[in-house]
This record gives sequence, structure tokens and C-alpha cells, in this order.
Amino acid sequence: MRFPESTKTVVIGAGTAGLSAAKALRQAGIETIVLEATGHAGGRCVTDASLFSTPFDLGGSWLHSASINPLARLVEKAGFALHKRPWTRSWVHILGSNLSSIEVQAFQAYEANMWKAISIAGEKEHDCSTQSVMPRGEWSSTAEHIIPQMLAGDANVTSAKDVHNYANADGDWLVEGGLGAFVKSLHTDVPVCYNCPVLKVDYTKANIQISTQNGTLRTQQVISTVSTGVLGSEIIKFHPPLPNEKTAAINVLPCGVLNKVGIEFYPKWTEATQGQMADYHSSNNEFCSLLFGFYNTSLATGFVAGKFADDLEVEGKGAATDYCIQGLRATFGNDVIKYISHTHETSWRGNVYTNGAYSYAKPGSASARTILAEPLDERIFFAGEATMKDAYSTVHGAYLSGKRAARQAIMALSLKNAQSY
Ligand SMILES: Cc1cc2nc3c(=O)[nH]c(=O)nc-3n(C[C@H](O)[C@H](O)[C@H](O)COP(=O)(O)OP(=O)(O)OC[C@H]3O[C@@H](n4cnc5c(N)ncnc54)[C@H](O)[C@@H]3O)c2cc1C
Repeated sequence: MRFPESTKTVVIGAGTAGLSAAKALRQAGIETIVLEATGHAGGRCVTDASLFSTPFDLGGSWLHSASINPLARLVEKAGFALHKRPWTRSWVHILGSNLSSIEVQAFQAYEANMWKAISIAGEKEHDCSTQSVMPRGEWSSTAEHIIPQMLAGDANVTSAKDVHNYANADGDWLVEGGLGAFVKSLHTDVPVCYNCPVLKVDYTKANIQISTQNGTLRTQQVISTVSTGVLGSEIIKFHPPLPNEKTAAINVLPCGVLNKVGIEFYPKWTEATQGQMADYHSSNNEFCSLLFGFYNTSLATGFVAGKFADDLEVEGKGAATDYCIQGLRATFGNDVIKYISHTHETSWRGNVYTNGAYSYAKPGSASARTILAEPLDERIFFAGEATMKDAYSTVHGAYLSGKRAARQAIMALSLKNAQSY
């Protein structure tokens, strides 16, 4: 679309939060445009249909807490095929040995207890690290590597209270065709200026000036939906600078890393099906989870997370894939590689417009999400997964945060209009 000179409201970022905010504003009759740095909508929830024989979500794919997830209701209503089968471990390899099936069950039971213990501690105690409140036992030194798989930050740097605050409910559903494709389809009427990175937000005057690579535009309000990784990297300059409490909140809610390695098998490999998982722990913090049979096809996904995922990105392209293939060989034997047709790995840290996968709260910092969400000067509003105390790190959290920021912006405009009479 053509770059305008002015508009009532500007939304920065066409991820889930930005799209949902812009849609709500336009439904309220408020002239709004979205400025998006990249050439596509969806941000961290994006489907690529070109990589494998089935569409692949590079970022968010599950509708978590489906029983209370507003997007899950919409997907069901739209009649998309959903895959609701829960995922359980069938294989666990720890430091050179594959566990027996009884041991795998014990490991799985330990994991459930671990999350329960973290959540209980988060409710009762001062805000400590998830690692410090894990029950110690035979499986703890491996199971702590499951924490970054969920939170994107390692056990020693993530807050137990943040885990307690998360609204966990039944159901993790996959959308056939991709969650990214579904979110995009909900927002086709939202006007987006693509390839238009915002460089500066100057809110010194009554009209806010937004500087972009494509020019400058004036607006009354801004909704920022960029990740805390982007806010922390300061590629968008705020003038005057964001207040100290805001920058402090950004610093204690950094973007951790979760990377995916898509692995497509030839259909004749039939050792694992949808819902089955393998964990592979080779040494210290080196760990991956492998999930099989996405959408009942031969597509598997390996996950690497936390500092290990960052280290693999630094090592270079292919390092995460090599590690996941090492895990497959240890679990199924060397012959498994003959059945791999192709692979694709993500590198969310290297993406300057996300600078990581999603936010985690450092110990002592669970309350920072509420501070990050607070409007500034009743003209600058903040949305995005990191601003959601009970639904951070999710697509539905981003969606709800966009709606919340839109409501705040609409309210501020109507107050302003009432005062000008
Ligand atoms: C590997 C991975 C797996 C995940 N799995 C799940 C899952 O299964 N289920 C789930 O619910 N969630 C999952 N998530 C998390 C989920 O994808 C995110 O929480 C959600 O998509 C974040 O949306 P957002 O709108 O807050 O941010 P974003 O999607 O990051 O949107 C922000 C947008 O701002 C743009 N932008 C950045 N800088 C600028 C700038 N200067 N100017 C203009 N635009 C800019 C970005 O390009 C982006 O499009 C996963 C994430 C990853 C990375």
C-alpha cells in the first residue's frame, strides 16, 4: 500500500498482536495503518508452505490452553481441521543410554511434578528461579532442560512466579494448514505497509512523528507490538527515551530462543507417529526434543532452546540440524538418516526484527509484564506477547494483547475528543 503522510493511529508490527489491534481499531472506525519491517505478515507466527510437503509453522504452531484460547474457538468455528492428540514421550536418551519404557514413564511423571512444584513455589515464595524450586532427584539434571523448551530461557534465569501466573488449561491443538496461515486469514482486511521498518518515534509534540525507511508520517497514537528483543536492541529510537521503569521492564523480560528443525522423512519410515516424542540429552546443557508425525504426515520437528540454541546459532547454519540428527541416530540407530528427505532450521535470534523467540521473566521480575503493558503519555500503547501476565509467549496472548491495546487507544481518543468540546 502507498505510504501515507498522516493517520490517526499507527501500529508498529504486523505480527498477531499488531494485526488484532489494527482490526479492532478499524472496526471502531479509527483510521489505522500497520507499519511492518519485513515483507510478510505474522511475525513470529508464520507458516511456510514451500519447505515441505505439508505447511510448516516456523514459529507458533500450537493453540495452547485450547479450552480457554479465543483463537481455538475461532478456528473451530471456521471449520479448519484440528489435531488434538496430546504429545507424550516414547523415547528418552540420557548421556549415552536409552531409557527403558518404565524409566521413560518415570521421567514423564517427574516432569509433571516438576511443573507443579515450580507453580506452587511461584505462588508461595518470593520470586525465585525455576531451577531453585525443582524437586531434586534422578531425572532433575536432564528434566531442567525441558524448561527452556517451554520458556525459551534456562532454568537458572527464569522466574517461578511467572510460571505460576500463566493460565494453563487443557488442550494443545495443531491447525492443519498452519496456525500462521490461519491468523493471517483472520486479518486480510488490515492495511499493512510492508518493508517499512520504523526507525524513530518522536513524541515530543502533539502530533507524533514516525520516521521510517520510506519516509515520515504524523499520527495521534502509536501501538508498539515489537518483541522485547527488538525494544531492547533499540533499533527503534524513542524521543524522548522511554522512561526508566519501562526500560527496566524490557531488560528483565528478554527474548530467549527456541529454534525448530523441520525434518521430513520418506513415508516408508514408520517408527514414530503423531503424538510421539523423543528427548535427547547428550551432555551438560546439550538437549533437544523431537516430535513426530505432525498433521499425521512424515514431518517431524526438533526443538533446541535457551542458551544452547543461542550457541548453536553462533556455531552457524546447520548446527541445530546436525544436533537433532545426532539425537535421531542415538534413539533409532544410524540407519535413520537414510530415511530423511530434507530439513529446514530456524534462527530466531539472528532475525533482527524479533531478536529471539519469545520473552521470559528473570527471577524477581514477573511483575514487569504489567509495567511493560502500561500506556505512556496516553498516546503510546504496548502490546505483544511479553505484555501478557497470564498468556505470555503465546499466539493467543499476542492476539489478546492487541485487542487490549486497541481498547486503551480507543478510550484515550474518546477522552481527548470529549475534552476538546
Ligand atoms: C520457534 C517458536 C515456537 C513457538 N511456538 C508457539 C506455539 O506453539 N504456540 C504459541 O501460542 N506460541 C508459540 N510461539 C510464540 C508465538 O509465536 C509468539 O508469542 C507470537 O507470535 C508473538 O506475536 P507478537 O505479535 O507479540 O510479536 P511478533 O510476531 O514478533 O510481531 C511483531 C512484528 O513487528 C515487526 N517489527 C519488528 N521491528 C520492527 C520495526 N522496527 N518496524 C516495523 N515493524 C517491526 C516484526 O517483523 C513482527 O512482524 C512460538 C514462537 C517461536 C519463535
